Amino acid sequence: MPPPRRPARNLPETLFHWENGLKLTEADLAVDFRRRQPRAFISHAHADHIARHEYALCTPETSALYQFRLGPRRTLDMPYREPIQWGGLRLTTYPAGHCLGSAMLLAEDAHQSLLYTGDFKLAPSATAEQAELPKADILVIESTYGTPQYRLPPRRQTLDRLFTLVRQTLEDGATPLIVAYVLGKAQEVTRLLTAEGIPVLQHPKVFEVSQVYEACGVSLGRYARLQGQVTPGWALVVPPGTPPLEPATREVRIGVTGWA
Ligand SMILES: [Zn+2]
Repeated sequence: MPPPRRPARNLPETLFHWENGLKLTEADLAVDFRRRQPRAFISHAHADHIARHEYALCTPETSALYQFRLGPRRTLDMPYREPIQWGGLRLTTYPAGHCLGSAMLLAEDAHQSLLYTGDFKLAPSATAEQAELPKADILVIESTYGTPQYRLPPRRQTLDRLFTLVRQTLEDGATPLIVAYVLGKAQEVTRLLTAEGIPVLQHPKVFEVSQVYEACGVSLGRYARLQGQVTPGWALVVPPGTPPLEPATREVRIGVTGWA
């Protein structure tokens, strides 16, 4: 689908407006809408940022994950840092560090610029390109952890606790069951564990998303699809809501939550 023709009337004075969601006014482009739109930018493929749009602009990796989740869709690939002209605006994606393919969107017209962050993480990630923050006149920011109650410990400290707990559990002959959202967090924790020499069995729902990661060139190390039996010495990564393992298996359930 081509971008909309420039309206004959005077150009809008604002770059964006609110229409029960963020819209780039001149380009008539919906940003991360959860309801179907003729044209939408998708920052990443989490369920709270996507819909069955008629035409979607997103990074190639987000396109792969989006279409894995919702079936074949019409998309325009926007690789990081490669500007396109769209409906009177210059649009560029930058890594957001949140999950594979996650992007911030920089929109510029002749007068001003706007940066929409989507979900983002500034710290390094094992499975997503590290966030970059281009300068802009207007900043539209996701603020999931934007209140003072979220003072999180350093990532290194949290990871050390996780690795210690997983190793202790395995040494005790039990199974560490790590509960993680199927897209993003599950692949991140898998990569972190396998890099520590801890092999991972993934629940089938996690494993199928991991295949999209692998197809996009993100290797997750030594992991396999869980089928029936739990293998001693391996950690499990499963989605939230997974019932307890069979009674004969001693499990230690570990939740990895949040994205900060
Ligand atoms: Zn997200």
